[in-house]
Amino acid sequence: MSAEHVNCLIIGSGPAGYTAAIYASRANLKPILYTGPEPGGQLMITTDVENYPGYKDGIMGPQMMEDFKAQAERFGTDIRYEVITKVDFSSHPHKVWTDSDTEIHADSVIISTGASAKWLGLENEERLATTGGGVSACAVCDGFFYKGQDVAVVGAGDTAAEEALYLSNICTKVHMVVRRDEMRASKIMQARVFKKENIIVHWNNNTKTILEEDGKVTGIELLNSKTNEETTIPVTGFFVAIGHKPNTGIFKDWLDTDETGYIITKADSSKTNVEGVFASGDAQDHVYRQAVTAAGTGCMAALDAERYLGEKGIV
Ligand code: NDP
Repeated sequence: MSAEHVNCLIIGSGPAGYTAAIYASRANLKPILYTGPEPGGQLMITTDVENYPGYKDGIMGPQMMEDFKAQAERFGTDIRYEVITKVDFSSHPHKVWTDSDTEIHADSVIISTGASAKWLGLENEERLATTGGGVSACAVCDGFFYKGQDVAVVGAGDTAAEEALYLSNICTKVHMVVRRDEMRASKIMQARVFKKENIIVHWNNNTKTILEEDGKVTGIELLNSKTNEETTIPVTGFFVAIGHKPNTGIFKDWLDTDETGYIITKADSSKTNVEGVFASGDAQDHVYRQAVTAAGTGCMAALDAERYLGEKGIV
């Protein structure tokens, strides 16, 4: 099968990828965008987005991504619901393969593969998550299944606070397991958490064990790091909200990354260490990680790609 040739290949479909697609399409780069395994990215598992400028009354995350996609399509972006599984950045054009073994030769590549939820690493955690046994990394996706039940949320960032608040409207009790004596979440989110009578915060606690019976979560065992006290809490749902890791594994042989895997870009640009390969969004940003900053860097990547292709005389 002969390889398909493209001026601008965009990998990923969060705010960064779609913004890159809008700019690249309007610049007539005729981009192809591969959505990856989670079309729409992390905003698909978010409820209200209140801090994206332009949506004055707020917007639901999935609706916002529909809007981004429709805007990219309006200018002709070719959107494909496939996953890029392998890349070879050793020569020009760059070579990329999809999960259906299509080979693509791209003059420029924009990486906007985002980041994915982290797990605690407990023995039965990921199994119970994949079998629907009661462990989840997404309250919005799975909270409904625990209606009228008691659940736990681990983490103390904005995601954990958001998940606890969401669950507090559905579940009877929400136990929030916080490993330190303070939360990392923004003050406004913390205030909302503290106001909810059915959210119980367990400070200085780590989850030791997820208890299960017949493949279903029945409770958790906590260990207090200050007092060494152990507590067993009966819950049927266990939500892990402890941050994310960048989806950059397939690029690691070619691109410079930090120790966590975030792609390193050159100062004031989206350029990576490989000519013609640009990175945007959460795949290269462990500091801001906002939809609006991801969109901003997606725009930068498309402008950088356009200039690069122009300088090379490709477009
Ligand atoms: P963060 O990295 O901000 O927070 C992760 C939390 O998980 C921390 O409180 C951390 O604890 C805790 N944690 C990490 N590992 C463990 C562990 N092994 N056991 C127990 N706890 C653990 O991630 P978030 O996903 O919350 O947020 C990411 C970014 O997205 C942030 O910038 C946030 O502001 C933003 N965001 C904004 C939202 C909004 O504006 N509506 C909504 C959601 C996220 P510790 O504090 O002790 O390190």
